[in-house]
Amino acid sequence: MNIRQRVDRLCERLYVTAQYPSQGAVVFVDLERQEIREAYLSRAMLRDFLGGRGGNMVLLYNLLEDGLDALNPGVPLIFGAGVLTGHVPGGPRGNVTSLAPDSEAILDSNAGDYFPAYLRRHGIDHLVVYGQALRWTLLKFEHGRLEFCDASRYRGMNNIELTGAIEQDFDCHEGRNMALARITRAGEKQVLCSGIMAGPKSIFARGGSGAKMGSLRLKAVLVRGRPPEFPIDKSHREDNKRIGRKILSTGVAKKVLKTVGTPFLYKPSRLLGALGTYNNQKTSWHDSLDAENFDQFRDGMAGCYKCPVHCRALNRIPDADETDPYRHGDGPEYVTLGKFGPNLGIDRPEHVLRFNDSASTGSAIAWAMELYQRGIISDADCSGLAPNWGDPVLIETLLFQTAEREGFGDTIADSAQAVERGKYPTEALRYRMASKGLFQSDPHDSRIIKAFALGLAVATRGMDHLRNRVTLEINPRINDDPDYKRELYGAAVSAEPNSYIGKEHSVARCEDQYASGDAVGMCRFNTKLFNSPSLPDSNDFAGQLTRLTGIQFSPDEVLLAGSNITALERMINYRIGLRVTDDTLPQRWFDEPIDEGPFQGELIDRDEFEALKKRYYHVAGLTEHGIPGPERHERLARTVTGFSVRVELPHDLPGEAERMVIVDEVVNNVAGLRQTVCRRYPELVDRMDDELTLAVLNGQTILSGEGEAKISDGDQISFIRAIAGG
Ligand code: SF4
Repeated sequence: MNIRQRVDRLCERLYVTAQYPSQGAVVFVDLERQEIREAYLSRAMLRDFLGGRGGNMVLLYNLLEDGLDALNPGVPLIFGAGVLTGHVPGGPRGNVTSLAPDSEAILDSNAGDYFPAYLRRHGIDHLVVYGQALRWTLLKFEHGRLEFCDASRYRGMNNIELTGAIEQDFDCHEGRNMALARITRAGEKQVLCSGIMAGPKSIFARGGSGAKMGSLRLKAVLVRGRPPEFPIDKSHREDNKRIGRKILSTGVAKKVLKTVGTPFLYKPSRLLGALGTYNNQKTSWHDSLDAENFDQFRDGMAGCYKCPVHCRALNRIPDADETDPYRHGDGPEYVTLGKFGPNLGIDRPEHVLRFNDSASTGSAIAWAMELYQRGIISDADCSGLAPNWGDPVLIETLLFQTAEREGFGDTIADSAQAVERGKYPTEALRYRMASKGLFQSDPHDSRIIKAFALGLAVATRGMDHLRNRVTLEINPRINDDPDYKRELYGAAVSAEPNSYIGKEHSVARCEDQYASGDAVGMCRFNTKLFNSPSLPDSNDFAGQLTRLTGIQFSPDEVLLAGSNITALERMINYRIGLRVTDDTLPQRWFDEPIDEGPFQGELIDRDEFEALKKRYYHVAGLTEHGIPGPERHERLARTVTGFSVRVELPHDLPGEAERMVIVDEVVNNVAGLRQTVCRRYPELVDRMDDELTLAVLNGQTILSGEGEAKISDGDQISFIRAIAGG
């Protein structure tokens, strides 16, 4: 069944009108045929998955055709705004979801600036695009109307040029009366580490969303016009004020985010001896990149739609040539600072300011540098460049080449997939700092803090700290107060950062809190547990969700929705072939102890790690395969696909105690069901195709005519081993 048939089938289950106050539409856009349709998600979908990242996953689960490559135009790209996006202070965020071209997992990327809030306030909760446009296209949304515009003229433009051209052509100004999601040249050329820009600087990064959008020939999505006011009652307004005060009263917002931005994190990592340096061969680096050394370059702070924090540092390089378009900009964030500082052997702030690219690009260059250092790649492989550590001219050259896919940049553009795409030998994988094919998002070497390590390993989109990082593991006031720590994470968690004890609880709790935060649109920096225990949490989300939607939410239901989202993501990852062994870490962290600093000798013990992972699965309500068991799968399927058939198996999946799987895609008959089981669970193909495996449908053995034996939602079917001969 192709994407168009899937959209048709899904729309039959969705609604033609809003199901609760403030609900926006799901807009399906067929770029190839220039066709648009609208529908509304159900109240059950809201209750179980909220919106934003959660709603996106519901849509992806339904629309994904098994077996397609991420860049296939039949795999949709889904923009989603959270339920509270644009309706609470500090909550301007939204997600972009698909399969990731730059990993083996889902693509799911969060950004703020203006685009998600504009989308939501203009009445679109989710925008689903698919099919390849016949020419480069800009989608314009204005006054409730979506228009396909020719974007040929914008082709080849970078972010600065494109913004200027669109502001001129459409007589608007970003942030004042327009928001834009767009790709640069890198996205057009399907550079795998490219993202979708959500503003002058915010980016839907991680997983290659830019390449995915480029594969659809979609240059930009423009929302024009100031966001319409939405009437909210007095209690909603009062609570918004309280939430704003709550955010601003935290030390982290007041003292650092508002004044310095995220680079403040560099120093604690450095002092701990946990800075990923030279592609994590080392873990210490100079204090020249401590946040205070960027003070002289900072010429203001910017922020996202109605966020009281304004954490984004602006920069200006003094004495730079006035014609240099990069003399002024946003950033860097802590991630960029680490990835383009110690990770590449760079120690001067002004160099980091110029590079200011995505985490994956920095990781791809660091990987190349280590391969070159080890002689695994040669000058010839690098098209004449010599990728040596600490060479700012080379790095800048490589960044421009990468965006154009020129010279050695074509290899960097293949990011973490360079081996799979034939650019590096298999030996290179040993030095790839990635999990599930995605480079680590942050520069923190996590051999010391075991909760960080577990989080990176089990994160559903690959090696990423924003899914579940227990950042407060480095907060002594929390570590020294066991009762408070237990209260925060719901169970006892060791005070020692390098202990494995109890870390499953803190990772699982952060994961639920953050996923629910994404689904309502709250920025991670403004969500409890990420930077502070005092930031808004599921209690605050529940109150505002109830007021905005008219549907009663409890804090526990909000957290459960967060857990459901992660579970559904794991179900998608399972469908695309990821297994429990993919929840792991780079080999280096198991084999090579840290050789310097206060935690010298620390590494990840394989047995301890596997035991911790198992405990995490249990706490997260997953089986030992890291996926929901049959009962939970069935419950989720009721909401997601509206179809569920229990299938009992003659043999269990490896290690699966229940000997049962759930088919949650509509099938009409036993023959179709057999095919679906084989497709979704390739480990069962041999057993299911065995001519001795008979189907028993609702107690009735099917000896012939499987194609005519109808299957309905709620049926039970067993496959039994027939006894042949005598
Ligand atoms: S805290 Fe910073 S990144 Fe988050 S919404 Fe506010 S300005 Fe944007």
